[in-house]
Amino acid sequence: MINMNELLIPSKIVHSKRKSIALIVDREGQLVVRAPLHCKDEDITDFILKKSNWIITKRSEYLNSAFKVLTFNNGETVQILGKPYRISLYNGYKVYLKDDCICIPTVKPSVRLKQYLRNLTKTIINEKVTFYCQNYNLTHKQITITGAKTRWGSCGYKNSLNFTYKLAMCPEDVIDYVVVHELCHTIEKNHSRKFWARVADILPNYKQQEKWLKDNKRIIDVI
Ligand SMILES: [Zn+2]
Repeated sequence: MINMNELLIPSKIVHSKRKSIALIVDREGQLVVRAPLHCKDEDITDFILKKSNWIITKRSEYLNSAFKVLTFNNGETVQILGKPYRISLYNGYKVYLKDDCICIPTVKPSVRLKQYLRNLTKTIINEKVTFYCQNYNLTHKQITITGAKTRWGSCGYKNSLNFTYKLAMCPEDVIDYVVVHELCHTIEKNHSRKFWARVADILPNYKQQEKWLKDNKRIIDVI
């Protein structure tokens, strides 16, 4: 492909039994093309050019984001409770914070960090759920810490609560908001006016945290 904007060069073209070409910008911001088995290169190029505005907008969003998918190199930044820590790999087993560094074992760093985030999320969520239930007369069923990739929390039909371990990367006031949001769903299942009034009753400035989540939504993709 010649004379193409760099952003329009696919990192992968996957041919399979399908009828049409599809473009995907994956969580690392790479362009992936899915094409029918005998699709010609020219047809793929034409399709990419036709969709160039969409691709450039979408990929720029990822490339300009403050949050990049972690590759676990020394000096990379991870947010813990909304504060940046630099990764420092070491030969050991435990993940721990020291000054502005997060020390992570060289062996299976991703698994170790996920476990660390999961434990931290669990502790913080349990504290906060207990606090809001006691102070605002709310109840719930079991709490599960999940690996959800697209949603911060959810409330089941029978009021079980789910929170993704990725919450430990967000500032504490944002975690408060997610907890209050899900706890309010134990009473109001939808996002009705009554629901938002309940949230505002507990957290009058909740729109700030909502905005943070909107502005920083890519943080969910870093690990
Ligand atoms: Zn909701």
